[in-house]
Amino acid sequence: MIPYVELQTQFKSIEQEIRAAIDAVLESGWFILGEQVRAFEREFAAYLGAGHAVGVASGTDAIHLALRAAGVGLHDEVITVPNTCVPTVCGIIASGASPVFVDVDPRTLTLDPAKLAAAITPRTRAIVPVHLYGHPCDMDPILEIAREHNLIVVEDCAQAHGARYKGALCGTFGHVSAFSFYPTKNLGAYGDGGAVVTSDARIAEQLRMLRNYGEERRYYHSVEGVNSRLDEMQAAILRVKLLHLDEWNAARVRLAGAYNDALAATQVAIPHSAPWALPNHHLYVVRAPHRDALQAHLKEQGIGTLIHYPVPIHLQAAYRHLGLQRGAFPVAERACSEVLSLPMYPELPSDAIPIIARAIAGFHP
Ligand SMILES: *Cc1c(COP(=O)(O)O)cnc(C)c1O
Repeated sequence: MIPYVELQTQFKSIEQEIRAAIDAVLESGWFILGEQVRAFEREFAAYLGAGHAVGVASGTDAIHLALRAAGVGLHDEVITVPNTCVPTVCGIIASGASPVFVDVDPRTLTLDPAKLAAAITPRTRAIVPVHLYGHPCDMDPILEIAREHNLIVVEDCAQAHGARYKGALCGTFGHVSAFSFYPTKNLGAYGDGGAVVTSDARIAEQLRMLRNYGEERRYYHSVEGVNSRLDEMQAAILRVKLLHLDEWNAARVRLAGAYNDALAATQVAIPHSAPWALPNHHLYVVRAPHRDALQAHLKEQGIGTLIHYPVPIHLQAAYRHLGLQRGAFPVAERACSEVLSLPMYPELPSDAIPIIARAIAGFHP
């Protein structure tokens, strides 16, 4: 049995540090917006080389509040891609803005800069490029178009902790960046969590108010805020795990290399890595024409897989009101019918990979 993901082995490897960190919070008697959150915000901003990090309750809230802090909201349009995780769009809609989709590059499956300009209208205020699967978007042309049209760029870094584009870390390109610490992300809490990163002090100040009922100082509220805070317990856990992020990402890179070699002679297409990309391999996603049958075959062999994602956002029932039809974004739609995520986590035993490759090679549709 090779599970799609398991988090216990990693926990066991850092158990003492984690238990000590949780104990310290319990002993402190302080659970919301305290020393652990402040320290994590400092350490995460330093890791990225960014000015400010603001802890929030989730990656979805990070996108929502990043947009609001940058002044995006009602009557605005925000451009993103249709093959992202639904929370990207939940965050855009929570800000009051409307999502507008742009199709993706057929190799990287990230926002296709060549299709961006055509989606811009007088109402467009922001672009949310998604570093999908931990592979960076082609940021240079995206930033150039954003500059030309005076648009805010909010990077969705929920899958991109530690990934690099032309040598620089994802999360340092846009005006604001949104991170998720959902447990299975490359930097994962033991519960929900997120952070917004920015080098703009004014946006950071807005975010600190927005996440805490819009409070400027105790009981004085200068903006309409929400309750969306990273809690002390999760911040303490994340401080421990941040110290291991680079080593865990390096393990993923080694595993991805082993997968690439082992799968070269099989019928699946291995993930494309652009020459300017240093992906963090959050997911290892192959493409297979008979994807559903392959997934069933692997399940029979005891190999867990997932599909990220089977239905593009514009074809989800919840977003029917956007009025978009099948065929609107052919590259994303085709990807959704072919992608298959194989087991990928730093503790995946490397001898699992030849077993998975043999199981794939033994599949005959
Ligand atoms: C996980 C994820 C999110 C949302 O994060 P949550 O912490 O679950 O709210 C947003 N965008 C992408 C691309 C994600 O993978």
